[in-house]
Amino acid sequence: MAKRDYYEVLGVAKGASADEIKKGYRRKAKELHPDRNADNPQAEAQFKEANEAYEVLKDAEKKAAYDRFGHAAFEGGMGGGGGRPGGGFGGGQGDFSSAFSDVFDDLFGDFMGGQRGGGGGGRRASRGSDLRYNMRIDLEDAFSGIQKTINVPSSVSCSSCNGSGSEGGSEPATCPTCSGMGKVRAQQGFFTVERTCPTCSGLGQIIKNPCKSCQGAGRVEKERALNVNIPAGVETGTRIRLGGEGEAGMRGGPAGDLYIFIDVADHELFQREGTNLYCRVPVSMAKAALGGSIEVPTIDGGRGRVQIPAGSQSGRQMRLRSKGMPALRGAGSGDMFIELAVETPVNLTARQKEILQEFDDLSEDNNPESSSFFSSVKSFWDSMKG
Ligand SMILES: [Zn+2]
Ligand SMILES: [Zn+2]
Repeated sequence: MAKRDYYEVLGVAKGASADEIKKGYRRKAKELHPDRNADNPQAEAQFKEANEAYEVLKDAEKKAAYDRFGHAAFEGGMGGGGGRPGGGFGGGQGDFSSAFSDVFDDLFGDFMGGQRGGGGGGRRASRGSDLRYNMRIDLEDAFSGIQKTINVPSSVSCSSCNGSGSEGGSEPATCPTCSGMGKVRAQQGFFTVERTCPTCSGLGQIIKNPCKSCQGAGRVEKERALNVNIPAGVETGTRIRLGGEGEAGMRGGPAGDLYIFIDVADHELFQREGTNLYCRVPVSMAKAALGGSIEVPTIDGGRGRVQIPAGSQSGRQMRLRSKGMPALRGAGSGDMFIELAVETPVNLTARQKEILQEFDDLSEDNNPESSSFFSSVKSFWDSMKG
């Protein structure tokens, strides 16, 4: 079967302008796209044909060769002659599949309302990296929430070239190694593998005239001050995502995200478990025995009161409801648990000693069992002496 004329394939007149060729190709590509023509081998063949035609006619050099020699320009034997680089313009199959990815690009651009724009810089843009920032805060700040200003070492879009990477607004050129595909194909045994193009790092474009401020990267290193709201209730390991606050994209691509990893410092009074707080509070021996109320510090900076029942032992736990940490998601707060630490009095005055001695004597009378225990100990020691 004779090869159809490329202009005819795209439905445009011979000598059509680059714009007309592109429009003709897009029309055909949409009409014949495999997504819309499932199980239609004829459409598939025409789709390949349109891609092949466009691959040649969109390229000024290939188009000139085609206009002069027709299909013969791309047949194997012509490759080495005529001073054209790379032994012709590639085998049919290779051309097809690279053109295929181009179609997706094109259609994607259409469906997205031409988002990639005519600026030239947008097309091969790549997204910036995500950044991680470790933030250490106090328990009090985790309780109340806090606004912090952080300095993020980051790269931002270069203002000299508007992120395009080219000096003076000149257009980046299509990468000669990969013809703008961003990928190169290599044969490995029976398989053809695709690799990121080493010349352009997958961008598909090279900067002929790099911007002096950013050396063609389209972005520059800069420290940014950023206000961050840390919500109440965060704990160690909480991650806060700030969309679009990460590293700037390459050549006008979208920025990455910034993740703040929270680390809450240990507190000298309070231990935290989830939303509950625990603390040990010293209580005098007399208060523990007699009962009464004690004042305790709370995480909000205020004071709370707890009633101690008479006869409380060391280690007894009391609870102050809703005086713990706020829940990060949802309403409410945890509780605060107070563990009593009964203190043995030290540095007694003579009078205090006297009273305690009296107290002790009375205790023996009150507790005949323990007093008989002590008298048996006393008689044991007496017998040892004797
Ligand atoms: Zn390349
Ligand atoms: Zn620049």
